[in-house]
Amino acid sequence: MAIETVGIIGAGQMGGGIAQVAAIAGYKVVIYDIAADRIEKGIATVSGNMARMVASGKLTEDARQEALARISGATEMSGLAGADLVIEAATEDESVKRKIYAQLCPQLNPQAILATNTSSISITRLAAATDRPERFMGVHFMNPVPVMKLVELVRGIATDDATFEAAKAFAAKLDKTITVSEDFPAFIVNRILLPMINEAIYTLYEGVGTVDAIDTAMKLGANHPMGPLQLADFIGLDTCLSIMQVLHDGLSDSKYRPCPLLVKYVEAGWLGRKTGRGFYDYRGEHPVPTR
Ligand code: NAD
Repeated sequence: MAIETVGIIGAGQMGGGIAQVAAIAGYKVVIYDIAADRIEKGIATVSGNMARMVASGKLTEDARQEALARISGATEMSGLAGADLVIEAATEDESVKRKIYAQLCPQLNPQAILATNTSSISITRLAAATDRPERFMGVHFMNPVPVMKLVELVRGIATDDATFEAAKAFAAKLDKTITVSEDFPAFIVNRILLPMINEAIYTLYEGVGTVDAIDTAMKLGANHPMGPLQLADFIGLDTCLSIMQVLHDGLSDSKYRPCPLLVKYVEAGWLGRKTGRGFYDYRGEHPVPTR
């Protein structure tokens, strides 16, 4: 089945980014979130990001207007009924995702493919909560979606070849490079990346270094483009904590225990850039370390 309309669930950092690249590639896009203001904010962010692409010569104003015209919002899940592919990019919480699938599946075209952008949760287990495990898989974009080249593809135990091929073709049309991961906790990128970030938070927690010292050390000492604490804020500390919990639960190894300081920041609602505060405070002109 040809993919023409892409439904996106979750208008946050990732949902917005996926909407942006899909609309620029020529797909019709429908974005659903729990509240109209979140959808409006998500689409406004996409519009602003595309304006920056125009300013830097990466997109023409005409192409921006055409892409924006292809994006619409839906405040009811029934608005996704016409989608050929739905990508779920809601909060990294298995119970949230399960509830979404229970509500969504009866509305979808029986042939539609359902994909999740989860960073860590078992694709096979999520697939089992849908009515279409053979047409369900992980299509894991990186943040920020318009900039990062990689899409990690993850098949569940039941994912059929046609679904996998359709996801490959979709990623190619978005000009992304794919890598294929087996369905194990946090797949490839986050299995390696998140323990490093968690260790950086332990380094802060134990007083080995300050926020500034740790990020400078890894930027200049390991040639990372961003320090690990800056990266954690960029990903979202709630997402980082969920991924560590999935690794810890799924692999039963104490080396994946989430740092208590990460838990504390999440409990405070200091989730990083998206809430204005995390390991840095973003509310002023320049980010300022919060410890
Ligand atoms: P986010 O917090 O920016 O956005 C999540 C969105 O989901 C919010 O707009 C929220 O309102 C919405 N949402 C929550 N419950 C919902 C529901 N029941 N129905 C519809 N929408 C609902 O988070 P994000 O960073 O965009 O992450 C989304 C997904 O993408 C997660 O699964 C995450 O693991 C994954 N992901 C994140 C990153 C990253 O770097 N942040 C990278 C790759 C994948």
